[in-house]
Amino acid sequence: MYRYKWNELLAVCSSMIRPKRILEKLKILSPSKNQTYDENGICIFCRYAQTGERIIYEDELVAAFVDRKTIAKDYLQIIPKRHIKNIYDLSPQDIPLLLHMWDTGQRLLQDRHPNQKYIFGFHVPPRNSIDHLHMHCIVPPIKSFFGKIVHSNYFWLMSPEDLLFKIQHESTRKPRKIKI
Ligand SMILES: [Zn+2]
Ligand SMILES: [Zn+2]
Repeated sequence: MYRYKWNELLAVCSSMIRPKRILEKLKILSPSKNQTYDENGICIFCRYAQTGERIIYEDELVAAFVDRKTIAKDYLQIIPKRHIKNIYDLSPQDIPLLLHMWDTGQRLLQDRHPNQKYIFGFHVPPRNSIDHLHMHCIVPPIKSFFGKIVHSNYFWLMSPEDLLFKIQHESTRKPRKIKI
């Protein structure tokens, strides 16, 4: 009887720990992962934008689709149609594009879930899973503990405000003097 219970306890513990699942989730922390390209070597977000695959909204500059992860009440991604690798490839000229992405995300979430708290943000490389700029647009609550950490503006997700500040700030930074 005790032995049976012990085995049962072990089974419960191992199903709770699920090391494979944890390793999968930790991949986002590793710079080596690359989920950007499909089997034909095409950026999957460029493919969505060009073919309309999964797209729920588009205009001349941006496209939006529902994230495959079902960790929140609602979860959209807004992408620029142009292939911009990540936040480090943004310059002050992209500020109108960023504002448009942010505005589009707010309008879409407002339509789908009016008057709620929303989370918007960009993963900072190497903590991004796809090398095509995308803005996470989330309606809480986020269900998993790990999801909460990875999608929190405090730890892992740079908010649009902070990103705009960063781009503006870097553009106004004085060039370093070069010693000859
Ligand atoms: Zn792309
Ligand atoms: Zn991301």
